[in-house]
Amino acid sequence: MLANKDNISVLENFIYGDTPEETGIRGLLSFIKDNTSSSLEIRLYSLSLELNIRMLPLKTLLVYLEMNGILEPVYSYFEELPFKYLMEKETIIGEFDDERKKFIQCIFQYSKTAKIWTRLDIERIMETYGADRIRIIRALEYLDEKGWIELERHHTVEVYEILRHDFDINDTTNSLYNTAKGKETFEIKRIQQMLDFFESDNCLSRELSNYFGEHTVQKCGHCSVCTHGKVELQSTVELPPLSEFNFKKTTANLFEKADFTPTPTTVTRFLCGVNFPFGSKFKLKELAEFGILKKYPYRSVNEWVIRNR
Ligand SMILES: [Zn+2]
Repeated sequence: MLANKDNISVLENFIYGDTPEETGIRGLLSFIKDNTSSSLEIRLYSLSLELNIRMLPLKTLLVYLEMNGILEPVYSYFEELPFKYLMEKETIIGEFDDERKKFIQCIFQYSKTAKIWTRLDIERIMETYGADRIRIIRALEYLDEKGWIELERHHTVEVYEILRHDFDINDTTNSLYNTAKGKETFEIKRIQQMLDFFESDNCLSRELSNYFGEHTVQKCGHCSVCTHGKVELQSTVELPPLSEFNFKKTTANLFEKADFTPTPTTVTRFLCGVNFPFGSKFKLKELAEFGILKKYPYRSVNEWVIRNR
């Protein structure tokens, strides 16, 4: 079998990097609580940079808040709708008849093309044509689907209704954080299970069918265990112990450049080369020490950071 354990840390780092920090979750909850109106606008990209939570886990947190009855998604819209023409304007207009043709013409008429991107004056189109925002967005999405234009979707605004403001920030933070941690533990365990499977001394077909709840196979006679016996996955690189690194030296640049106080989690992510929004925001990825311990297991680095800070 052509496998070894060298890249397990890389796999694990994807998982660890997706767990939001407690401070980030608390920040999200305060942001909701401090919003005095019941309508909440969320710009995922900038909120992600502000809270230091990656986009995907941030979306997951919002889903949890929805399940907890705190938020309800109402609709989303694009704040800006930059797009690129992939076909001549006139050719696109030529694809439509009657009212729809006039509508598309109006959209193009009130759009300005810079070097590459075209921007709409959406208010103007709404006013002149009497169309609502949603119809304009749908039209552009349709053109994008057809491959006639390319729509840039980064500036989405998600509008939520806050169903209750009376939630307890501490309790909710704890509960969301524990859920995220539980998910992390589960995913990491899955990697370990996969390794255990490859290193099993039982027939692999038998292991697999047991996993799926069937207990029919005894020995298949043709898997690697049946033909060659148990394998042991090797680590090909020998790493010096972490105690050989000087914590102060390794993190000095990070602490100097960061415009915030890095938590042990942030320090660990930085040293393991795991991307986090503050890393981009404060240009920490340019530092030589970013990812300097990326070959080490995340958990060992984290323990080392906590011991030495
Ligand atoms: Zn077998």
